[in-house]
Amino acid sequence: MTGFTLCDYHMHTPLCGDAEGEYHEYAQYAEKRGLSEIGFTGHCPQYYLPPAERDGHCSIVQEELGTYIEEVSKVARNKQGTLEVRTALEVDYVPGKEKGLVPFLHYYDWDYLLLSVHFINGWAFDDPRQVKVFDEKDVDKVYTEYYRILMQGMRTGYFHVVAHFDLPKKFGHRPGRNVREEEDALHLCRDMGLVLEVNTAGLRKPVKEVYPSLRLLKKAFNLGIEVCLGSDAHRPEEVAAGFCSALKALKEAGYTHLVCFRNGEKHQYPIPEGYCK
Ligand code: ZN
Ligand code: FE
Ligand code: FE
Repeated sequence: MTGFTLCDYHMHTPLCGDAEGEYHEYAQYAEKRGLSEIGFTGHCPQYYLPPAERDGHCSIVQEELGTYIEEVSKVARNKQGTLEVRTALEVDYVPGKEKGLVPFLHYYDWDYLLLSVHFINGWAFDDPRQVKVFDEKDVDKVYTEYYRILMQGMRTGYFHVVAHFDLPKKFGHRPGRNVREEEDALHLCRDMGLVLEVNTAGLRKPVKEVYPSLRLLKKAFNLGIEVCLGSDAHRPEEVAAGFCSALKALKEAGYTHLVCFRNGEKHQYPIPEGYCK
């Protein structure tokens, strides 16, 4: 294919402890899959914990943030002219801890920042080792609380993209009724001009579908919310994984364009014809 194709805006690095493979291998796979652009999104250091408790579990330790930026920049230089490489962060948003987060937001001129909610009052609800906790919970309430935290994160104005919007479904837990906060969160996403990430990691998890679901993508389209693609790769072979399923869902929802970021500003680009055979 010639011309601009697709961006994968969500991938991890060995620095997070939960991912494997070298930076250049992620870039290699991106080229192999015919992408035009990628963005590395290592987890922001654990600003929400007291310094002595920051163990770097699933996140970059503060002292290595400079290395992270250096490594990504190196790949960007090496791939100049063939693959655009963005430097970004996935931020685990924890309400009330914003003061500790601000220095990291200003640490570097990030191309974009992903808003992620992985914790509900300290419970890492998407961690397979903590899935049992769901048994003690009212699933509807889990969703309600989750979306409330997500909305708090959106309102900070720190972020560009809302990652894996309906993450609590990861292990197959579904709300039993319509959760009003889900609707509210979509409206807030629109009002704040935030981009919704279509994250294909869900296809590799028990729920076996993209985040957000097709039902939500249809609502998002009707609200005029813009979208971007992310594989949430934790190994090089996962770059662009499931993108054709995501594009199929997007098409069904009505989308014809995706967005990318240039110097902190978003731009639309058309979904390429013929990327998926
Ligand atoms: Zn991760
Ligand atoms: Fe995440
Ligand atoms: Fe991630």
